[in-house]
Amino acid sequence: MNMDEIRISGLEVYAYHGVFPEENKKGQHFYINAVLYTDTRKAGKTDELSDSTHYGLVCEEMARAMKEQCFHLLERAAEYVAERVLLTFPLIREIELEICKPEAPIALPFSNVSVKIRRGWHTVYLGLGSNLGDSGQYLKTALEKLSASKQIRGVKSSEWIRTKPYGVEEQPDFLNGAAVMETLFTPWELLDFLHIVEAEAGRVRKVRWGARTLDLDILFYDDRVIDSENLTIPHMDMVNREFVLVPLAGLNPYLRHPITGRTVQEMLKDLRERV
Ligand code: ATP
Ligand code: CA
Ligand code: CA
Repeated sequence: MNMDEIRISGLEVYAYHGVFPEENKKGQHFYINAVLYTDTRKAGKTDELSDSTHYGLVCEEMARAMKEQCFHLLERAAEYVAERVLLTFPLIREIELEICKPEAPIALPFSNVSVKIRRGWHTVYLGLGSNLGDSGQYLKTALEKLSASKQIRGVKSSEWIRTKPYGVEEQPDFLNGAAVMETLFTPWELLDFLHIVEAEAGRVRKVRWGARTLDLDILFYDDRVIDSENLTIPHMDMVNREFVLVPLAGLNPYLRHPITGRTVQEMLKDLRERV
């Protein structure tokens, strides 16, 4: 979606970031440019500040974040400030943030150095499954752990369904479901986090498609397409799996696969006609 923008430029903050001890002691001026991506339509109709984001408060929060810690790198300062804004102002979906350091210790004439980043909330769909131990409890605990992460918000889960095992047939039935959420994690950070949650549920990886206490798969991450050694998004085999498509359709039947253009509802219909 094309989002509206609230722009802040040249916000001056005196702070202490830098690699040289001198910089951390004496400090210098930093200047912040920010583009806040949000939906201003409602405020545009109601003229109510509570329907939008108060840019004065955003400026104060950015200045506070800049001053409360002393980092070596502009990269770190930018990451810290961007995350603070995204966690503090729920209507801001993305931020483009540039931190300028025109008084940086460079022994040559120059007018400015800056680091610019873009960060935001991403919509993720997960597939969840369990067929060992108290499956219902494993799945519930997994969702609670996801919700408890600062980097994840708005977790919503589908109904749970009992399904026959897929691939390797001699094992207990599965309890399967799907969940949707927003996250600040990159796809690889999210995968690492899911592996930690699986490990905490006592998951041991023996055979692919074997019995497990907890399996967390990334089905979609926005409309990103990733094909790397340890991560494939959208999840490779979803078109062949009713136990993935049924709960997913419960959450959002009109969600579109970014490669094939088929909706979840259509993929489910295709699958049922095929088998
Ligand atoms: P399947 O992926 O076919 O459902 P599985 O879930 O049983 O099989 P696992 O043993 O849980 O497979 O995962 C093996 C590896 O798959 C993981 O370590 C991970 O690196 C990789 N992987 C690739 N794409 C994804 C994805 N979208 N979500 C989760 N893991 C993925
Ligand atoms: Ca799986
Ligand atoms: Ca998996």
